Amino acid sequence: MGGYGDEDRAGRTDGERAVRRDEAVRAAVEQGLLGPDSPLVGLLDVQGIREAAADLTAAFAAVVAPGTPVLHAFAVKATPLVPVLRLLREEGIGAEVASPGELALARAAGVPADRTVLDSPAKTPAELREALALGIAVNADSPQELDRIDALVRSSTPRSPLGIRVNPQVGGGSIGALSTATATSKFGVALLDEGAREWVVRAYLDRPWLTRLHAHTGSQGIPLSLMARGVAEMYALAEEINERAGRRQIDTLDIGGGLPVNFGSEATTPTYAQYARLLGEVVPGLFDGRYGLVTEFGRSLLAKQGTMVARVEYTKSAGGRPVAVTHAGVQVATRTVYAPGSWPLRLAAYDAKGRPKAGPEVVQDVAGPACFAGDLLAEARALPPLEPGDHVAALDTGAYYFAHHYAYNSLPRPGVYGYAPDGAGGVAFATVRAPQGVEEIVAEAGGAHASALTTLRTPERP
Ligand SMILES: *Cc1c(COP(=O)(O)O)cnc(C)c1O
Repeated sequence: MGGYGDEDRAGRTDGERAVRRDEAVRAAVEQGLLGPDSPLVGLLDVQGIREAAADLTAAFAAVVAPGTPVLHAFAVKATPLVPVLRLLREEGIGAEVASPGELALARAAGVPADRTVLDSPAKTPAELREALALGIAVNADSPQELDRIDALVRSSTPRSPLGIRVNPQVGGGSIGALSTATATSKFGVALLDEGAREWVVRAYLDRPWLTRLHAHTGSQGIPLSLMARGVAEMYALAEEINERAGRRQIDTLDIGGGLPVNFGSEATTPTYAQYARLLGEVVPGLFDGRYGLVTEFGRSLLAKQGTMVARVEYTKSAGGRPVAVTHAGVQVATRTVYAPGSWPLRLAAYDAKGRPKAGPEVVQDVAGPACFAGDLLAEARALPPLEPGDHVAALDTGAYYFAHHYAYNSLPRPGVYGYAPDGAGGVAFATVRAPQGVEEIVAEAGGAHASALTTLRTPERP
């Protein structure tokens, strides 16, 4: 037992994942998924996804009292791809959704309603009605939303577990845009604002059907200690409500997601096991069996299982700096391109046959295909010298990257493929999402309405 054994095993798993990735890049070139006419692909490590899901499940199973209901709901926004949701479902993971589209993806993947959670700050009446009709768990984000839910509950008894999202206002992390527990965050009921705590308590006492409480303290950049404080605040509030209610009205705590990902090296750190142990120390009552648990991890489950591989089209030199022009830029690495300081990515160089490239490193820019100067995957990065026909892989991109296409320059969505050992020493691929064709781009750009504007006549002026 103890940290040493855990780390040893984790290190081995990380190393094996890196080996599988190299094999997959080579096989993608050999099998023609990646080539002159398909110069950008997203690759997903099926075994890695299964292992991450198993690690999550085991980490909480190790700390909760026996028999505690635990639902791990994958935050669909991290990797909104139906086959990924289906694979996770098979591994016992549900879905956290935040829009009608995400709900439709979860349903298409076969995620049952009772393993689905709806959180969003802007749910329409129709979305709320649908969620309640399906029996999906809903966390109300604001007093106004709770009013709408009241009206729906009056017309029929809800099958859905219902709760309120609170903002514990414990502070932000290193990335402002992803810090959801600042004083002024747009999410949830801001608990420290004047009168807010009492309002929340009354809301529960007046509504016996409110049985859950939810907080999500933030994503990438939030230190674990701050995440744990957010959970501690939520737990204390649940205890207060249950005490004033004189019964265990709140029976389930939804602790959100947000475990950060290490983008700096191969190591999976922090681990789910570390976080679960920390929660057990900081919030001892959390796991004693009185509360069921919901988690909503996204990035930490998928980031390290994804690799984006781009062909180098040209190389040049500008102002003395070598530049490799590739096919991966802002359309698939939007955050990295627009906020490179917050979102640096590890890059790996492969040759034209998809074999890891060695050689003395050269400081170079790795550019994307889009038409603005800042479209760089990395600036002044030391890598083996890149040549036309080589490949560059952007690592740890399984969440919030190639699945989050941005249509700049009408660049197409790349194909996404899952890979696994084929049992005969090779690599097998499965299409997760076909690459987008030019016809689809035209259709999405109003191709069916080409003369819409030229035929619209403005009234004659008198
Ligand atoms: C984005 C989000 C998550 C997932 O965050 P990760 O950082 O990807 O783990 C979970 N819950 C809510 C409410 C979110 O908005």
